[in-house]
Amino acid sequence: MTQPDVTIVGGGLVGLSLAALLRESGLHIALLESDTLPRWPAPLGDRPFAPRVSALSPASQRILHRCGAWEGITARRATPYRHMHVWDGEGTGSIHFSAAELRVHELGHIVENDVVRSALTRCIESAPNIQVIEGARLDRAAPEARGLRLHLTGAKSLSTQLLVGADGARSRVRDLAGMRIRQWSYGQRAIVTTVRTDEPHSETAWQRFEAGAPLALLPLTAASGDDHFASVVWSLPDNRADAALALGDDEFDQSLSGAFEYRLGRIRAVDRRYSFPLQQCHALRYVVPRVALIGDAAHSIHPLAGQGVNLGLLDAAVLAEEILQGQARGLAPGALAALQRYQRRRQSHNLSLMAAMEGLYRTFGLESLPLQWLRNRGLDLVDQWSPLKNWLSAQATGLQPPAMGGSTKIAHQDP
Ligand SMILES: Cc1cc2nc3c(=O)[nH]c(=O)nc-3n(C[C@H](O)[C@H](O)[C@H](O)COP(=O)(O)OP(=O)(O)OC[C@H]3O[C@@H](n4cnc5c(N)ncnc54)[C@H](O)[C@@H]3O)c2cc1C
Repeated sequence: MTQPDVTIVGGGLVGLSLAALLRESGLHIALLESDTLPRWPAPLGDRPFAPRVSALSPASQRILHRCGAWEGITARRATPYRHMHVWDGEGTGSIHFSAAELRVHELGHIVENDVVRSALTRCIESAPNIQVIEGARLDRAAPEARGLRLHLTGAKSLSTQLLVGADGARSRVRDLAGMRIRQWSYGQRAIVTTVRTDEPHSETAWQRFEAGAPLALLPLTAASGDDHFASVVWSLPDNRADAALALGDDEFDQSLSGAFEYRLGRIRAVDRRYSFPLQQCHALRYVVPRVALIGDAAHSIHPLAGQGVNLGLLDAAVLAEEILQGQARGLAPGALAALQRYQRRRQSHNLSLMAAMEGLYRTFGLESLPLQWLRNRGLDLVDQWSPLKNWLSAQATGLQPPAMGGSTKIAHQDP
């Protein structure tokens, strides 16, 4: 296939989901990934868990179900969590969310990214209208009569009507299309590792805020039912991250257990430590004629929100819906009218969530005493005031809480 209607660059969770959502459209799709894609079933390896995991909201679960991937993911490995506990590490305020309060089975699932990617790869490999091209990068793009001519590394080229950038925070598609961004670095890195805790995780996603150093423990349950595992995401200023990465294993475990206030007893890392530089980035436009950005290519957000994949999956779902609706109205896949509808529906939602998370991050980065007092009172008040708490739960889960819409349902932003 040298003339796909739609070319998706990037086989991360978001690009693969878009391909899977378009698998029954009749459109010819090419998915280009510079690396290799994990094949089904994702090898579980000799480590207890893969290092990169995501907290997926029920809205994301619904999208992955529509992709045809969710059953495979849960059959392989996914840990539901029914509570979320957030507290101020420098004060007394805390807030607790529970699935029972929201009248849902769970608030979300912790999944290993490669388990999700391998389930999605399986879905698209069996689709005759989708061609997967691995081990080649998008290098250049030029306008031509049919749309765009894409030049890949290795001298291959494709002619396409719509180019979708799902190629992550350093998007080549975004650069080639000249789409401007607003970005800043937090001067922080996230240290990620898998740990074992003395106490079981109690199906709870834990988050402790400390000025400029949020720490999250995301629950993981092994196939044996062992529920003492968790994935740690510890965001630290660069100098503290360097120091934490240089510690010996015992010292690191002690430092982590202390930072987590021994709430689950002693914590021991059972994998090596990985580190990711953190930056916020947002494209001023998500679309130009024949080009659209989705996922981290359009926006990357601090992991304290645990929302990057969730926002990206909503992008993929809305773009797929607009492409299909445009197709039904006789529009070509790259038609600007359909792409602009996608941008209108997604950009304001992404921006408002990013602004809320940025506010949270900055509030917890401040050290003045009155602000600390307000922060503590604020968390306690939110915990007691159900309309605001419900609104926050809706943002975190993609669900509309009962108080806001009768029975619990997926929030408005989910197509
Ligand atoms: C420490 C940490 C923890 C996180 N935790 C969570 C969480 O709990 N929940 C959550 O929702 N989000 C979380 N996130 C965010 C989440 O990981 C990202 O938002 C998500 O991975 C973005 O997916 P993507 O598919 O858009 O991009 P990526 O995952 O970056 O995928 C892009 C793909 O494009 C390929 N590519 C790049 N350039 C080219 C090219 N020129 N040609 C061909 N292929 C190319 C790459 O190889 C890659 O496979 C976390 C992030 C971090 C750093």
